[in-house]
Amino acid sequence: MARVIVVGAGVVGLSCAVRLLEAGHHVDVVARDLPLETTSAVAAALWYPYRAFPHERVTAWSRSSYGELETLAGRHDTGVRMLAGTELHRRPMADPWWRDAVPTLTRVSAFGPPYADGWSFVAPVIEMPVYLRWLAGRVEALGGTLTRMALTSLPDRAEVVVNATGLGARRMADDPSLMPVRGQVVYVEQVGLDRWWLDESGPVYVVPRSRDIVVGGTDVEGEWDRRPDPDVAKVILERAVELVPELARATVVGHRVGLRPARPEVRLELEQQGRTRVVHCYGHGGAGVTLSWGCADEVTRLVGD
Ligand SMILES: Cc1cc2nc3c(=O)[nH]c(=O)nc-3n(C[C@H](O)[C@H](O)[C@H](O)COP(=O)(O)OP(=O)(O)OC[C@H]3O[C@@H](n4cnc5c(N)ncnc54)[C@H](O)[C@@H]3O)c2cc1C
Repeated sequence: MARVIVVGAGVVGLSCAVRLLEAGHHVDVVARDLPLETTSAVAAALWYPYRAFPHERVTAWSRSSYGELETLAGRHDTGVRMLAGTELHRRPMADPWWRDAVPTLTRVSAFGPPYADGWSFVAPVIEMPVYLRWLAGRVEALGGTLTRMALTSLPDRAEVVVNATGLGARRMADDPSLMPVRGQVVYVEQVGLDRWWLDESGPVYVVPRSRDIVVGGTDVEGEWDRRPDPDVAKVILERAVELVPELARATVVGHRVGLRPARPEVRLELEQQGRTRVVHCYGHGGAGVTLSWGCADEVTRLVGD
């Protein structure tokens, strides 16, 4: 069994750490930002393969994560629930490219203008503050450690390093192909909503949680500003009310921005750096939660090899 340092404590790093510990490895997680301070904490977070490539690997990782998240939804303490929801389109569409990753997907016809097509399916919805705490607790319960530490480069004397630094991999892996895609969300109070809604053209998404509803969003490539913009928030809410009219009476309770770590392709591969085996696992774009368990399984296989 290997001694592994996982760099990064977002959903990707923590899921990798859990799987590696379950496989019997010795794991220490180090991260500049602790779980609730990461981009992962801002995720909506609906299971949905968005802005992540290549399609074939992403579909496979999404399918395995769906299964694992469905299992976790059966426990009361994980923050994961299975919720039905609807995605609407403004023009007729073929089935989504990730169709094989969900057990059932039903075409819907009960919609009016401006929509012209849509489908419903049951998806995991993950309340990230609860879920990240649960993942961190699982790391510790399995004998791993989690330490705050900002690194300037990946550890070079470790046996195995997992690079799960998200956008930080621009520096940690010297990878200029990694770009931020800024996402702004508005939190509103719960008004009894128990389905998620998505209009991919915005993107507009409405994701109910236990006490509030996450309303998004934006996806601005190359934008690094993490301050919520009040004008953008206004537009987000207007578009969301068009999709889900009940939101018109919901009080706004918060605003947040996160920078999705986008890359032409997710980088999940082994690289030998001197005596250290580095497994890179970053660049999950708008789908880090959706891909987390599938990627963690593959990272664990690479470490085992
Ligand atoms: C508004 C918004 C909505 C989203 N909605 C969804 C959704 O519905 N579904 C979904 O699947 N995904 C969603 N995402 C995408 C998802 O949030 C990301 O894909 C995911 O968080 C990436 O996880 P990560 O662990 O790779 O990175 P991060 O969460 O960014 O974690 C990176 C970790 O690496 C550490 N690190 C970086 N550099 C260093 C360094 N030099 N030294 C030490 N540590 C370092 C950081 O401190 C952090 O701990 C959304 C994102 C946004 C912004």
